[in-house]
Amino acid sequence: MKRFAKSTLFFLVAVCFAWSAFFTDSFAQRRRSAGGGGSAQRVAENVTGDTFEYSAETPRGAHIRSVSRPRAEALRAIDDGLARLFAIARKNNYRARTNYFDYTIFIARPDRTQNGQGGYSPDIAVGAGQYGGSRYDQGGYVYAAGMVISLEPCAFVIAEHNRNWNRVSDAVRFEGEHLVLYHNDRARFQATLDHSRGGGGHPILK
Ligand SMILES: [Zn+2]
Repeated sequence: MKRFAKSTLFFLVAVCFAWSAFFTDSFAQRRRSAGGGGSAQRVAENVTGDTFEYSAETPRGAHIRSVSRPRAEALRAIDDGLARLFAIARKNNYRARTNYFDYTIFIARPDRTQNGQGGYSPDIAVGAGQYGGSRYDQGGYVYAAGMVISLEPCAFVIAEHNRNWNRVSDAVRFEGEHLVLYHNDRARFQATLDHSRGGGGHPILK
């Protein structure tokens, strides 16, 4: 039990501490191309270096773009993460963006599949940005299990998994928290944006 709690904590810290650095970048990019040219797909491709050739929908209707044909287990895990997100959102009286079809999830090729402790941990490497030189910095980049790609429409990227589907559900639930907050409670969204500076970790919504 103790060991479980510890690994969960590692996950919570690692899941999207790079998020706000990335958010700043993508948001700036979106504003520059006010004509709407900066699509979520283009942002996802720029960040990951991947090409998302496959399209799918989860059984409950969330949109998927992926680097290879998504496995049924992955689609179910994504639905499960969204179901948990929507349930906790309702509990907090947040109604906006609580439909499966509101979300697009990009499944990218992982840049690592093991964490520093040797555990199965498919993650995406992203530019360190403001975290450069901090304890998160792995030499110009940091690892994240997921990150938000676009606030409107709601889109985020996770790494492709071939097991440990609970981790996929968690990443979906956690990245989705930022999007639900953005659309329902802007002050709380801002307050929880940066996990490295007192913004706390996940889960934010309880
Ligand atoms: Zn986060």
